[in-house]
Amino acid sequence: MVANPYGGLVSSLDADGFEALCSAVAERRCRALIGAGTLAEAAELWRPSPPCPSCGFPDCSRDGKTPAGRQRWRCPRCGEAFSALTGTVLESSNKELPVWERFITCMCYNAPVDLAAEVCGIAHTTAFEWRHRVFATVDGYQDRLVLRGRVWIDELYLTDSDIVRSADYVPKRGLSKNKICIAVAIDAYKNAVVAICGHGKPSSRRIRDALLSHIAPGSVIVHDMEKAHMSLVRAAKCTDEAYKADVKDPVYLEAMELVNNLCSWLRRYLFRFPGMKKGNLQSYLNWFVYLFRVRRDEEKWPKTARVMRHLLMTDAHYRSSR
Ligand SMILES: [Zn+2]
Repeated sequence: MVANPYGGLVSSLDADGFEALCSAVAERRCRALIGAGTLAEAAELWRPSPPCPSCGFPDCSRDGKTPAGRQRWRCPRCGEAFSALTGTVLESSNKELPVWERFITCMCYNAPVDLAAEVCGIAHTTAFEWRHRVFATVDGYQDRLVLRGRVWIDELYLTDSDIVRSADYVPKRGLSKNKICIAVAIDAYKNAVVAICGHGKPSSRRIRDALLSHIAPGSVIVHDMEKAHMSLVRAAKCTDEAYKADVKDPVYLEAMELVNNLCSWLRRYLFRFPGMKKGNLQSYLNWFVYLFRVRRDEEKWPKTARVMRHLLMTDAHYRSSR
């Protein structure tokens, strides 16, 4: 084996020198991986001409650098000075891009917060906050999703007290009332929608509220004969195809495979976050749907680069909810 020509050099470095080397290496590795090595480079790449965060003016001019070395912009209309990251969830980050790149990779695999903190060398509280910063960028993400063609729908139920912690939790009589219902839908293009649909078995109205805006007229809704679905089928101007739910019936299993799989992926995903706050459940669901799409397109667009670009391009604000 040939000796590594850098071995001697690296061992001779003092602590500061070694740290500088590590961050230069991380920067280069990150650049090779996602196309940018620093937040400043990422901003140039994915936010080349940011609009004014105060008045929305689209045509701002470059105005030197911020103390952190990032591009400063100035609005000719209202005079506001801002950085290219202003208005994004990365705005106040004092960690550089390679740390974020690792964090996003962890989030793409839904790694536990403790593991992400360890791998990224950041505090647990920072990792927790970063997760919610990323969630803020998918706020309302599902609002504009519309499924078409063949659309499979179903519901799954979460035990309120097991997965979701709620300050006003009172055990109720009757099993189903304690369960949160989640309506799920997926079309043949693997576009998915996942929405909270109240407690217990859903009424026709709750199903409509959850899914109506997400299904294009003329679609074929494939479902399990649940009566509450029929009002959605009519309201969405769709036709339907129904299969009696029977896990021993191969015809049912094959017909409903896509949505049954979606339900079991979602269940597995949610069980990774026991004790999440009820107010955060929709955020977790939004992230699940966003990631579902990112993974679907992974061959075309590598996932970490795509999510990083999304963080830079999305105007979003993180509000501390703790
Ligand atoms: Zn302005």
